[in-house]
Amino acid sequence: MSIRLLLCTDLDRTLLPNGPQTESSVARTRFGELAAQAGVTLVYVTGRDRRLVEDAISEYQLPLPDYVIADVGSTIYQVKQQNWSHWNKWQDEISADWAGKSHDELHALFSEIPLLKLQQACKQNSYKLSYYVALDVDHKHLLSRMHSVLVSQQIRANLIWSIDEPGATGLLDVLPASASKRHAIEFLMKQLGFDLANTIFAGDSGNDLEVLSSPIRSVLVANASSEVRDEAKQMALNMGQVEALYCAQGDFLGMNGNYSAGILEGVAHFMPETKEIIGNST
Ligand SMILES: [Mg+2]
Repeated sequence: MSIRLLLCTDLDRTLLPNGPQTESSVARTRFGELAAQAGVTLVYVTGRDRRLVEDAISEYQLPLPDYVIADVGSTIYQVKQQNWSHWNKWQDEISADWAGKSHDELHALFSEIPLLKLQQACKQNSYKLSYYVALDVDHKHLLSRMHSVLVSQQIRANLIWSIDEPGATGLLDVLPASASKRHAIEFLMKQLGFDLANTIFAGDSGNDLEVLSSPIRSVLVANASSEVRDEAKQMALNMGQVEALYCAQGDFLGMNGNYSAGILEGVAHFMPETKEIIGNST
């Protein structure tokens, strides 16, 4: 039986079993077998950069994807036989948000703000400008000051604030406004000729909520926290997308619904014709 599926998944704590919950022993092998089907296009959607995605693939023996949406949506790579190439069409799509300004030109606009400490070169890319900010800085005030600079230059950017707990520092990413996981997936769907009936996304946490509550059929893996589950359900309800969200609960082919088992359970829920393929493996 042939299927056609754009299978998009987050990595950390979604496909990667790197949370506190246990992983069903055969789940990742079964996932690899589904991903190997001729009609399946596999996409990793992650905050990780390319090097960290490659580390995860080798550490967890993941199938090689066809595409990687990396750096929180600001980069798309096409992967062919270990060969990674930037997908320039995506850069063209998001570059308009920065009104023709390059990474360095945008950085120069913030030169008057000494609180911003530029992160290492490996954390930057053409459309991701990343800073460290000390935790005692009033970051809300800082963000609004940066926002004014951006608006005055007619730049549409998202300022993403997060905290690196082990490193005890604030992280501030400046990204084109349209460079999000959801927009990147929708862009891939359009470019590759997939639609809502043959696209599935899986995720587990806060930066997946935009996709989980969108019209894109999505799976929340069972190891997600109850707070995220409640928030995802509420957001999907608000967006009128309850039918497009599936929360894995386990008991599919004897697996527990965590990580890749949850992804498979969701795929079987949305596309029952895949049950045979998933069940026949291993
Ligand atoms: Mg995750």
